[in-house]
Amino acid sequence: MNYKVNIGLEVHIELNTKSKMFCNCKANFGDEENKNTCPICLALPGALPIVNKDAITLAIKTGLATNCNIENKIIFDRKNYFYKDLPKGYQITQFYNPICKNGYINLESKIINIREIHIEEDAGKIGKNNCIDYNRAGVPLLELVTIPDFENAEEVIEFLKILKETLLFCNISDCKMQEGSMRVDINLSVRKDNMPLGNRVEIKNVGSFKSIKNAINYEIERHINLLENGYTINIETRKFDENINKTIFIRNKETIEDYCYFKEPDLIPINLSNKFIENIKNNMPMLPQEKRKIYKQKYNLSSNNINDILCNPKINKLFEDLVSIIKEPKEIANLISGELFKIINENNLNIEDLQPNINYISNLISLLLNNKISRDTYKNVFFEIIINNIEPISFIEKNNLYLVTDIDVIEYTVINVLKNNIKSIEDYKNGKEKALKYLIGQCMKEFNGKCDNNIIKDLLLKNINNK
Ligand code: ADP
Ligand code: MG
Ligand code: ZN
Repeated sequence: MNYKVNIGLEVHIELNTKSKMFCNCKANFGDEENKNTCPICLALPGALPIVNKDAITLAIKTGLATNCNIENKIIFDRKNYFYKDLPKGYQITQFYNPICKNGYINLESKIINIREIHIEEDAGKIGKNNCIDYNRAGVPLLELVTIPDFENAEEVIEFLKILKETLLFCNISDCKMQEGSMRVDINLSVRKDNMPLGNRVEIKNVGSFKSIKNAINYEIERHINLLENGYTINIETRKFDENINKTIFIRNKETIEDYCYFKEPDLIPINLSNKFIENIKNNMPMLPQEKRKIYKQKYNLSSNNINDILCNPKINKLFEDLVSIIKEPKEIANLISGELFKIINENNLNIEDLQPNINYISNLISLLLNNKISRDTYKNVFFEIIINNIEPISFIEKNNLYLVTDIDVIEYTVINVLKNNIKSIEDYKNGKEKALKYLIGQCMKEFNGKCDNNIIKDLLLKNINNK
């Protein structure tokens, strides 16, 4: 029997703000436990929340980047539940009026609709020795909820990669799944063709793209097996255990009634002006999906090159800055994909620490493109620029690395080499291509490698044919 799969995502995104959602505490990851706390985020009696304007701005940016309608009125609600990492006994969220609604993201072959994006606050977490660390309590969080439009794991991964790239390039979140700043809940059901949606299971907080793929595929198989054997699917919450590659039951799904939602009485609604939203719109950077199109259609770059220059906003800025000076995207992309990544990997560098001098690099590329230096010299000097911030022109002059370009000088050497290698000339004339290579090598030796291969070859052929 054929089954259809429906998957909807709930993605939690920690925002890149300096401070928390409703207080002035730092929103840093990895600080000493409970260092970033105050009466507001510890919920001491009488403490009142104050809305973080930067978080509102980032939420709007996210909505604009994902084609959502933006609400002018910001209203918060209380979601009540008891858990030890939630000091207030409720979470401030947006249940009735999410700030962004009805967006979408285009995949290669289909559209995934986004039901809403709302703002909320994160909870604390269990720290060392089972103590609770409230540093994360109150960190601004977005929850993005999709319609169950996905039909398989590949579509989910494609969507998450686009979303992650978008959030990184708009400087909304660092999206580090391993640090929990991007967390994904998977909702999944299966059904027979033309039937309404089946009962769904929610898999909470799956921690990596690989686990997301495995969890989905495991769960599809589990559902189909149960249905084929005459069982029904229990609506429940599960988690994915990476060690055994299986999902495990945690609890029955909570219902809306469990949370007793009501409007947050400590915060009055905020009215955003159209100008405020317009201003954010006008300052949006170009989205990576748009860049991809340009790189492919206008620059004709390979998908490997494109993935490399979009892997990180800093690398991308380096690429774009260089292209704006030297209009040779292919050469620049190859330099990044090849040499730069090699240097980064071999020397264990952190991309964020790189301070490449754009002028130095563009000068070096010009020297190569104008046949002033060999490719070997180009690579070696590029290494010096990245690692030691060496100024290329004086370095090349000082080390005498320019190619010999004076044709008379080159021809003089070529003629000499031919004089000393009469046998090779005969070999070549008798059809041995290798002999020509040997002669080129002999000339190169005379120039210590600092001469253009093709010029030598042309001059060799001209002088051999004259003989
Ligand atoms: P809750 O917050 O209680 O989990 P929501 O209504 O917010 O419930 O839905 C959460 C997610 O579940 C959404 O991403 C939605 O697309 C997905 N979803 C809802 N019904 C189904 C279903 N039958 N099959 C698969 N996914 C579903
Ligand atoms: Mg849910
Ligand atoms: Zn605080």
